[in-house]
Amino acid sequence: MLGPVILAASRSDRLRRLVSAAPVTRPVVDRFIPGENVDDIVPVVRELTDKGLELTMDVVGEDITTPEQAAAARDAYLELIDRLKPMELGRRAEMSVKLSMFGQALPGGHELALANVRPVVEAADAIGTTVTLDAEDHTTLDSMFAVHEELRRDFPRTGCVIQAYLFRTEADARRLAASGSRVRLVKGAYKEPASVAYQDRHEIDKAYVRVLRTLMEGEGYPMVGSHDPRLVAIAQELARRAGRKQDEYEFQMLYGIRSEEHLRLAAEGHRMRVYTAYGTDWYGYFMRRLAEKPANLRFFARSVVGR
Ligand code: FAD
Repeated sequence: MLGPVILAASRSDRLRRLVSAAPVTRPVVDRFIPGENVDDIVPVVRELTDKGLELTMDVVGEDITTPEQAAAARDAYLELIDRLKPMELGRRAEMSVKLSMFGQALPGGHELALANVRPVVEAADAIGTTVTLDAEDHTTLDSMFAVHEELRRDFPRTGCVIQAYLFRTEADARRLAASGSRVRLVKGAYKEPASVAYQDRHEIDKAYVRVLRTLMEGEGYPMVGSHDPRLVAIAQELARRAGRKQDEYEFQMLYGIRSEEHLRLAAEGHRMRVYTAYGTDWYGYFMRRLAEKPANLRFFARSVVGR
């Protein structure tokens, strides 16, 4: 019951200001977002890669309001790529981007987001890695898929995310699987209406399995984005039935969530990529993590009241 309330709060500017300014918030936020700038994050990259894990890196931010902020988002990713270059990690450190942070919701936003994200994809490609376009709320997805298709003409490894909770996703998965794309499948983290998305957790899980089967049987590279132990086991079985080897798909989980499972899967020889977010504009990302598991909210509330 709490999840939808927290998701609604994730879009409140007043709460954003309140929560972001509270000094006690930071230690709780650190669990999910281990740093505010590129200097904080380079040691985290080293630590995870030393453990045999791979990364997809997100400079947090979304819902920006000016073209200058969109350009700043682009520059933050370019700075990150510049710092990763001498580390020679190649695809062990990829990027994840939200097009809303690149200006998608501004006037002329589709073109603006494409113009801002292209140099990031080019720079990533130049250091031997790639970019995945995150999926945001359902109103943004036609534009995201169009940007994805456009980028893939020059950079075919550019990936995108699809969300099992949306009714449209089975058709999107068939199209993307046939085109041989890299695709991350997730359950979906936004508050979506019943007209476009399953609301029942069980229905969402069933849809996840149907979509995953399509991806595993297709021509592309499936990225299994879930912490759900049942879905992780089903993914391994579907990959086996589809005749995929361990390097023909991968698992992805979020930094700070089920970290022991990251190591277990990596030790079994799977490619395990940790979605690692950093930056100062962490409010939306943080609130979605609270909404996914209300126990996190109790933990957060306890630290706010100092107990
Ligand atoms: P759940 O059933 O929610 O969780 C399974 C178990 O994992 C829980 O029982 C709990 O033990 C643990 N767990 C899950 N979430 C948390 C949490 N926040 N805190 C503590 N424990 C937790 N969503 C989008 O809409 N767009 C995206 O682009 C996107 N990218 C993602 C990238 C990655 C790599 C991952 C892993 C998720 C991404 N998500 C994205 C979020 C996703 O949609 C889900 O909200 C999130 O993964 C929780 O779903 P789950 O599959 O882990 O299953």
